[in-house]
Amino acid sequence: MSLIIAIDIGGTHIRVADYESNSTKPVAHKRTKSLAHTPGVFDRLASAVESIWKQGEVTAIGIASPGPLDPHTGTILDTPNIPQWTNFPVAPKLSERFGVPVYLDNDANMAGLAEWQFGAGKGHTDLVYLTISTGIGGGVISHNNLLQGYRGMGAELGHMTIDPDGPLCGCGHPGHVESFSSGPAIARYVNERLKAGDKSSLQADPNLSAAQIADAARQGDPLAISAFARAGHYLGIAVANYLAIFDPSILIFGGGVSQVGDLLFKPFEESLRKQVFHPHYLDNLTITRAALGDDAGLLGALALARMKSK
Ligand SMILES: [Zn+2]
Repeated sequence: MSLIIAIDIGGTHIRVADYESNSTKPVAHKRTKSLAHTPGVFDRLASAVESIWKQGEVTAIGIASPGPLDPHTGTILDTPNIPQWTNFPVAPKLSERFGVPVYLDNDANMAGLAEWQFGAGKGHTDLVYLTISTGIGGGVISHNNLLQGYRGMGAELGHMTIDPDGPLCGCGHPGHVESFSSGPAIARYVNERLKAGDKSSLQADPNLSAAQIADAARQGDPLAISAFARAGHYLGIAVANYLAIFDPSILIFGGGVSQVGDLLFKPFEESLRKQVFHPHYLDNLTITRAALGDDAGLLGALALARMKSK
């Protein structure tokens, strides 16, 4: 039997699973706490792999990890979740330990790859995937190829500048789409408006979540509704830019914030129609939700290892 091991590295958990060829159902699956701020993350990762290792059967390992990272050298550059992994060659180190090739790419690219191979994007040749949660991540399939770029840093779709005078993004630069349309960005806007005296059923609170704002919006709260309308508006501008660059046949939305549905997507579609360079981009354009949920990172890592080890 020949097996591929897929790894999904998250801020709270590391998941490992092994798959037979042509299958997306794991033979074995292990989930372990990453304890990202405590030394020994690599050792915890290696023992998780060891726990499902079958000598002589594993042919390759794929890893989905938060970036920025260099997929060409298998090195994590600096990931905010795991402070000890700065310029950390995780793929070469695992490869040395287990004696098989190891392939690495960022989690958003991997989720896009997984949706294309196994999920909502099956059969499409040109796909843009966006995950909207605490940040905004992107993955692009262009003409049946995963877009990685020269340095492996392509498709950072959340860090496209929408307004250079806009609010600060999590990355430190102003006005990226993530600074308008991510969950924390929506909450920050609501808090600012509350402090400015806007009437709302919500109270200013640094821990306010996009889910709480969505609940208030569904009860008809005008500030909550306008906060999602604003996020959707800026998201539409960003996606109009992506259409002009990538000309996809499908847009797939993952991440918690995208689950609010029409609150975000009605204003998004209106803004997209207004901003798009030419209406032909919208012909036969499928706009849909991700199908793979929490397994997208693992399945993307599996797809990457299969693709690269062919
Ligand atoms: Zn940014």
